[in-house]
Amino acid sequence: MLTDVSRVPLRRALADLPAYVPGARAAVGAAAYKLSSNENPYPPLPSVVAAVADAAVDVNRYPDMYATELTEGIAHRLAVVPESVVAGTGSVAVLGHVLTAVCEAGDQVVLPWRSFEAYPIAVTLAHAEQVRVPVLADGRLDLPAMAAAVTDRTRVVLVCTPNNPTGPAVRDAELRDFLAAVPRDVLVVLDEAYVEFVRDPQAPDALALFAEHPNVVLLRTFSKAYGLAGLRVGYAVARPRLAAAIRTASTPFGVSHVAQLAAIASLRAEQELLVRVEAVVAERTRMLEGLRAQGWAVPDSQANFVWLALGDRAVTFAERCARAGVLVRPFAGDGVRVSVGEREATDIFLEVAQAHAPR
Ligand SMILES: *Cc1c(COP(=O)(O)O)cnc(C)c1O
Repeated sequence: MLTDVSRVPLRRALADLPAYVPGARAAVGAAAYKLSSNENPYPPLPSVVAAVADAAVDVNRYPDMYATELTEGIAHRLAVVPESVVAGTGSVAVLGHVLTAVCEAGDQVVLPWRSFEAYPIAVTLAHAEQVRVPVLADGRLDLPAMAAAVTDRTRVVLVCTPNNPTGPAVRDAELRDFLAAVPRDVLVVLDEAYVEFVRDPQAPDALALFAEHPNVVLLRTFSKAYGLAGLRVGYAVARPRLAAAIRTASTPFGVSHVAQLAAIASLRAEQELLVRVEAVVAERTRMLEGLRAQGWAVPDSQANFVWLALGDRAVTFAERCARAGVLVRPFAGDGVRVSVGEREATDIFLEVAQAHAPR
């Protein structure tokens, strides 16, 4: 055994960072529904599995560094120029590259909180400072307060819509007011990891806002609706000058050939995949209605998860769920996020929820 006598100093900022907590996984051989990571419950489509198998024979070569065909496919789908699309190893990684591309040491990044737990880590690693703005009691972002938190030290504002883990999407009118209030040299990142699940008619058309506001960047991913979480592909949509800077900050050859071909096959199979998204949305409605009928006040989820603001009871509730066979994601002292998965999983979860209903 080597004893750890390393004297190498570590970056001080790292000591204060919470580690990213991955959703619980079932023990080997134990039966459990995994509702802890907002994954797609469906297996990959046969056409996507075939693309992965085809790609496997080329893995002795480096991938296409700029994921040219995928980038063009995304650009075509979104009606933007290919120069505006930057692919990376999941949109979390792309967010890191965006921050690296624009933040100087000590710049501020305004973000909602509670929100995606990767944000504080990404901001700190980019040598920037986080400025947290509390989300409202109904799980919505407080966009006026976020705009008010912008100072001349602010370089970026992160807008998570729908917000992970609380669920609501921002509304078009409030986002337009927000964009009008934020200076044009502050980057506004719209993290739309769950955009395909949004059904709120008042939700914004982010591509229209991107066309109108040069300081808007979109982040999207193949991990959730497209079911490729294990292959790590996400992307940014940005004005070409910024997109080029994000590319410069990216890990060279990050997106593997396997991931590129799987994502291209997924774009081709979009119609089939969106049928599954529709089924997840229907199951989400069943979860929300079931919870509300039990007396829970749940935020309006526009994503593939629901949020229970359980406060101090979050961890115990998650343990009860695990004993019943569903793994959920507790945020200690705050709440529990439950991904929308299989019908049977919803049934089990609703049974546990019934036993803890606030009545
Ligand atoms: C899941 C998620 C992502 C996407 O993660 P990938 O790195 O693309 O897998 C990005 N933002 C939010 C808010 C998420 O919940």
